[in-house]
Amino acid sequence: MSLPEKFPPLFPAVFGRPLLPQREVLIGLIDEILDSNQLSNCGSMHNRLEDELTRLMGKHLCLTSSGTMALMMALRLGNLRKGGEVITSPLSFAASAQAIEWCGFKPVFADVECGFPTLDPAAVEKAITPNTVAILGVHFMGIACDTSALERLASQHKLWLVFDGAQTPDIKQAGQHLAQRGDATILSLHATKLLNTAEGGAVVVRSAEDKERLVRMRNFGLYEGQMVDIGINGKLSEIHSAMGLASLPLLEPEISARHRLRETYQRMLAGIPGVTILKPRPDSSASHLYFALSMPKSARQAVVASAAEKGFALRDSFSLLCGPNTLFENENIVCTGAAALAPEVAPSLLALPMHSKISDASAAQIALIIKNCAVNHLEGNA
Ligand SMILES: *Cc1c(COP(=O)(O)O)cnc(C)c1O
Repeated sequence: MSLPEKFPPLFPAVFGRPLLPQREVLIGLIDEILDSNQLSNCGSMHNRLEDELTRLMGKHLCLTSSGTMALMMALRLGNLRKGGEVITSPLSFAASAQAIEWCGFKPVFADVECGFPTLDPAAVEKAITPNTVAILGVHFMGIACDTSALERLASQHKLWLVFDGAQTPDIKQAGQHLAQRGDATILSLHATKLLNTAEGGAVVVRSAEDKERLVRMRNFGLYEGQMVDIGINGKLSEIHSAMGLASLPLLEPEISARHRLRETYQRMLAGIPGVTILKPRPDSSASHLYFALSMPKSARQAVVASAAEKGFALRDSFSLLCGPNTLFENENIVCTGAAALAPEVAPSLLALPMHSKISDASAAQIALIIKNCAVNHLEGNA
């Protein structure tokens, strides 16, 4: 692995707006923590948050110090052969491929599906070798993976199946929370995500046994004071947990506001030539972390520049995790057609501001910028 000559540009730091709790509520909880004299090691604040999120997302949920920590723990949980290959998506945030490498496995990149920015099960099947130990599917930009097809493949080939659900904390698929799929699903509670503890994450697993192993793992492999396993410090502190607890009452209203914004964007952007709105899978709801669309690269660049002039930070630097100018520059994308789709999809993606403070007037302004740039692009090409 060599260092890329040119690092991809950083996305605007103020793309989103973190969900912030009411000050009095947070300060009340911090006072409780100070009175309790317990700042970490899974105290009452931590356990309350873990219980609340378990109720929302799955039967067995283990809080962690970050989404990346959750990914590493979810991979470790599989007891996989060191050096084995983990098939994943080239379209993701850096953390998914990095966690694979950090845990001593080799990331193998499979292409995305036509129409969805997530792993193509046919490409995954093609990428399976005798060295494959796991599949790490990424629910990307609010769009769920084809979980059923990946579950079928994993069970046929006896592979550990982890889903990175950092960007989809709120999706239901066939009536069930998405976090219930695969062997393990990770969530992120980072400041940029729908619900946040400033830094934090969680692993959702299928069985009480797996949860118990994760609980030991995040606390140095300790069980009743004895070191029974190789663990790590993956605990979420009391202060971070308080941040999550204080924000929880705001989650539903925030989701409703974003739902209205999603509908507004959808209405205003319908029928613009060259603009394709990323739609959820037919069997799943949409996530409220992202509203994304794809349009030709040059039009997309014009949109970002005009929006910036008006003070709107749109996010457009979705780079591939492998190939030229990346840390995984020698990795090809396994695909089923003549050429991989992911390198075409990545530079066309555009994410619009998605939070409750975007007014209808702002949404209309953003939509107008997109429409103008799309039309200019068409005329420029005519
Ligand atoms: C944010 C994110 C992560 C990392 O989560 P952290 O809590 O920041 O460690 C992992 N994967 C994806 C797809 C993400 O968007």
